[in-house]
Parts: sequence; C-alpha cells; structure tokens
Amino acid sequence: MPANFGIGTLVAARTIAIAGAGIGGLTTAVALAARGFRVALFDRAARLEETGAGIQLSPNATRVLDGLGLRERLKPSVVAPDAVIVKTAQNSELARLPLGPSAASRYGAPYWMIHRGDLQAALLGAVLAHPDITLTLGAAVDGCPAGADGVTVQVLRGEKLEEVAAAALIGADGLWSRVRALAGEPDAARFARRTAWRALMLADAVAPEFRAPAIHLWLGHGSHLVHYPVKAGAMINIVAIAGDAQPSHGWSTAATPDEVRTRFSADAWAKPARDLLALPERWLKWPLYDRPPRPHRGRGAVTLLGDAAHPMLPFLAQGAAMAIEDAAVLAAALAATPDDAPAALRRYEQARGARTARVQRAARRNDTVYHLPWPASAARDFAMGRMGNKRLLAHYDWIYGWRPE
Ligand SMILES: Cc1cc2nc3c(=O)[nH]c(=O)nc-3n(C[C@H](O)[C@H](O)[C@H](O)COP(=O)(O)OP(=O)(O)OC[C@H]3O[C@@H](n4cnc5c(N)ncnc54)[C@H](O)[C@@H]3O)c2cc1C
Repeated sequence: MPANFGIGTLVAARTIAIAGAGIGGLTTAVALAARGFRVALFDRAARLEETGAGIQLSPNATRVLDGLGLRERLKPSVVAPDAVIVKTAQNSELARLPLGPSAASRYGAPYWMIHRGDLQAALLGAVLAHPDITLTLGAAVDGCPAGADGVTVQVLRGEKLEEVAAAALIGADGLWSRVRALAGEPDAARFARRTAWRALMLADAVAPEFRAPAIHLWLGHGSHLVHYPVKAGAMINIVAIAGDAQPSHGWSTAATPDEVRTRFSADAWAKPARDLLALPERWLKWPLYDRPPRPHRGRGAVTLLGDAAHPMLPFLAQGAAMAIEDAAVLAAALAATPDDAPAALRRYEQARGARTARVQRAARRNDTVYHLPWPASAARDFAMGRMGNKRLLAHYDWIYGWRPE
C-alpha cells in the first residue's frame, strides 16, 4: 500500500507529527484529524504491510474505533466471538467466558477478531481519505530538537535529511522506538524467553468445531495455544506459544512446522490440537518482548504511544488495544489545550501511566499462569474449572469496560 506526499509544505501551527504508521500511529492520526489537527504521519517502511495474523479487539478498543467512524470499514471482515473456550492441553473444557451479546451489553461495545491486514486497511483508508493527514512512507524519524513553537522533526528519506516543524511529535514507532531514545527513556526491551509461532489456515481445512465463532485457549505445561476465525470466518488464525532460549533474528521470521511439532508433542497435547498444528506448511515466529511497567513519560513537545511507550506480552491481547486507547486520550488532551502541547502531553501521560502499567503487569501474571509447569498447572486447571463463567468475565471488567472521558 504505497503512499507518498511532499513534506515541505507542512506548517507547524496545529500540525502534529507522528513517527510510525502501525495500529497506534494510524489510529492517532485519525483521532487527531477528527479534532481539527493537521497530521504529518511518517513511517520508515517503504510499504505498509501486515503479517498474516489475527488480532483480538476487545470492547475498550472497538468503542474507540467506533467513535472514530470506523465501524462500517471494519464490519465486513470481523468475526464476533460467542465465547473464549478455555481448555487443558488434554482437551477438557475448564471454562467458557461468554462474549457475543453478553459482552456487547455488559460493555456497550462488541468484541471482535480481525486479520491485522484488514484492521490496517480500514485505518489506512480513513487516513488517506482525510485531507488533513499527510502520510509519508520510506521516512524514518531520526531527530527532534526543540523548535520555536514545538519541535523540528528530522526525517531521513534515503540519504536525505528533511526537517518538518510541528507543535508536537508522537513516537508511535514500536518496540525498538527511536523516539523513545530521543526522549531519553533508556529501559532496554526484555526478551521473555518465549516465542509465538503464527499461521493462518483456510477455515475449510480445519475441524468443524474450530470454525465456530469462538476463541479457543488451550493451556499446557510451559506452552499454550490460541486459535480463532478471522476474515469474516474464512480463515483461522493460529498462535502457538512456547519457551525459547534465544530470540530469533528479525521481527517476523519464517519457521518450520517441525519447530511447532516438537514443542506440542503427543505426550502433552491431545490429538485435535496436534492435528490443527500439523496443518500449516508456513509458520512465522515472533520473539516476545516487553519492558518493565513504568510511568509513561515524554519530554517537552515529545511523547510516546503504543508499544513505544508500554510494550507488553500478548497474554491479555491488549497491546494494540492500549495503543488505540492512547490515541483517544492523547487527541482529547491536545484538543483541550491546542496552544500548549507540552502541557497536553503531560496530562495524557498522567492519564495513561497507571492503566497501561497495570495491564503490562496483568499480562506478565498471565505469562506465569499460562505457562506453569506440572503439577502447578494441574492446580491452576482445577481452580479455573471451579470459577464459574460469569465470575471469570467480571475479572476483565476493568479492562473491557474502559471509556474515554
Ligand atoms: C503474538 C502476538 C499477538 C498479539 N495479539 C494481540 C491482540 O490480540 N490484541 C491486541 O490488542 N494486541 C495484540 N498484540 C500486540 C500488538 O500487536 C501490538 O501491541 C501493536 O501492534 C503495537 O502497535 P504500535 O502501532 O504501537 O507499534 P507497531 O505495530 O510496532 O508499529 C510501529 C511502526 O513504526 C514504524 N517505525 C519504526 N521506527 C520508525 C521511525 N524511526 N520513523 C518512522 N517510523 C518508524 C514501523 O515501521 C512500524 O510501522 C499481539 C502481539 C503479538 C506479538
């Protein structure tokens, strides 16, 4: 999806620059433009491509996307799950978290599953349709000295360094954020000693019970498996997570079926799970990283958003949702004091810090719970089986019930 526009014509007043056109940067661009700002959005990639994988959008995120007018763009490709079905690796059901209509009426917004490419296409469509958003690809933000009325954003395009004046710079440039380093936030990302193997299958190829609109979460000893339909039910997204001593090089690298087979072996995993995992011929793997939960900080007219601010383990399916929430809060803060961007950014950081840190901690807790060794895993399964489905859902109220103020 290439898009290129000149950047020399941008003016600083009410212009906000964003580094990174991932889910966080794209949503922020739409949210800011909806509040009357001009947006200069940069991504270092020459093309915006999303790896073949799914993403869960919980009600706290769909509420924001709906508020930005994206429902109609998203609806043709989403699947609304009836439930999260939690099972042991031996295929006995432990719990069934009711989603579907019960989640929609409890939280006032739906729970959706979507292919990442479809989410990105919907956001990108809204970005390209807005006259006040300029997207420049092949443009890496590399510096941001303070300017007279905000920042001078230094952008590398090939060998050329260009400068753009903006009232503020938002670093939405992901886990290895350059803007984070520029803002003086030093924490190194931590490899969680786990890798996620991901694959997509045509729905027709999988067992009928796995085509139903549900999220299947299988808990083993030291590993777990998640799968759910995407692309309006036409494809099944599969994520197999297990321990890994070394991170693979690169972000999303090819993996072999054998890597998955050996980690999900017959002594621990039931046949239906192994049959599903035997289907894909192509796998991609993502080493999993996070950072310690810390207050959300920026400097002057610069702040961070999404994984650049608070990368988290994917065991609550909340990384993108937090970036989407950030976008809504940041746009509201800037709109409240458009002539004092630094003050707005500090209010945004203040509003987000405790919540995103709490979600990061909860994701780390799930890392422990999902990957307990035997016999602690047996105790976990027993406790979860006795919890009751409604009580289990109530556990997530603080996440899914969030609303922008
Ligand atoms: C296995 C797995 C499953 C997940 N499942 C879910 C889920 O179900 N639900 C959920 O909510 N979250 C999920 N997440 C988390 C989610 O994917 C991330 O939190 C989210 O994609 C982060 O978005 P972002 O926009 O902050 O960063 P990114 O998606 O990393 O985007 C950053 C962008 O910045 C660009 N960039 C980098 N440096 C520069 C620079 N210097 N200048 C300009 N551009 C730059 C990059 O090219 C990239 O496009 C999952 C994560 C994993 C690993």
